Amino acid sequence: MPNFEINEKYLKKSRLYKLKKNGIICLACRNYCYIPEGKSGKCLVRINKNNELYVPYGYVTALNIDPIEKKPLYHFLPGEKTLSFGMAGCNFKCDYCQNWEISQFLRDPLAYSNFIEISSEDIVNFLFEKKLKILVSTYNEPTITSEWSYEIFSLAKEKNSDIKTGFVSNGYISPENLYFLKDKIDFIKVDLKSFNKENYNRLTGANLKYLLESIELIYKNEIHIELLLLLVKDFNDSEKELEALFEFVKNISHDIPLHITAFHPDYNMQDIENTDISDIKRAINIAKNKGLKFVYGGNIISNDFSNTYCSSCGKIIIERSFMSTKINRIKKDKYNGFCPHCNYKIYGIF
Ligand code: SF4
Repeated sequence: MPNFEINEKYLKKSRLYKLKKNGIICLACRNYCYIPEGKSGKCLVRINKNNELYVPYGYVTALNIDPIEKKPLYHFLPGEKTLSFGMAGCNFKCDYCQNWEISQFLRDPLAYSNFIEISSEDIVNFLFEKKLKILVSTYNEPTITSEWSYEIFSLAKEKNSDIKTGFVSNGYISPENLYFLKDKIDFIKVDLKSFNKENYNRLTGANLKYLLESIELIYKNEIHIELLLLLVKDFNDSEKELEALFEFVKNISHDIPLHITAFHPDYNMQDIENTDISDIKRAINIAKNKGLKFVYGGNIISNDFSNTYCSSCGKIIIERSFMSTKINRIKKDKYNGFCPHCNYKIYGIF
């Protein structure tokens, strides 16, 4: 049961549903929840009132200026700052969630989120006031609050079509939601979590098959995608699992940037040790041997795995240090990027 009722003023009608006998089906994520009158879906923030869907609106729990590298995204306007906002709630309940106070606020009595009332106009005005070029829905799962992002992203792009927008997401977005957002969104960073369907389901409550379909759909719809694997000892780090995962990514495209980051105990997963840097190196080597071109390491005290090398001539083209871009040698033509040495086209928006 929710430990907190969402105030009516933070809800707005959405059309992202279809009617079903005595209820509705929410179409925002692959859970496709059946929601009877007066109830909410699995994420607890999308509610059936009189057989209409009401969804989060008009607030943030966090609004920050963050480097794009912190998301992490390494092939999307390197060196730029983002205006990052989050709401509350999640369609997953991962035991290692780093933002659990925001994501689990309706499930966990210990979680607490401050709702700050704000209009989409105020967020967009702040973006322009600070001369920022990128808006990101992050901190909680953006898929479950995509109508709010749609409004903010649309408004920003109407004012300046060069503004870029994106989600930091678990990737469990439905095709219906992706098509709804398609013209307003430029990137999605997706958390892979595990390539073992039992472990994935145990951690998230979700079905790995649908995540994999979503990743493919995002790429095919030409929305920039980067993937993140939080490497957890004895959970998702076996050679066999990593080989299969990287094979899957390579079969979509060997160009998709992959971030392999180290786990640190958090929330309800306190009994697993920090990921050792040697395991990050091992996973990076497996990914590279599989043929993935852009593989990075993260959450480690080392800059050894944060630079970008041209996948054709092998020369260094972007140098980074602890989540910031130091030297960017990429040749730009509008948003396309090319190696300055061999003119090879680099995947991404530059
Ligand atoms: S967003 Fe997903 S979890 Fe939430 S109500 Fe819709 S289908 Fe269910």
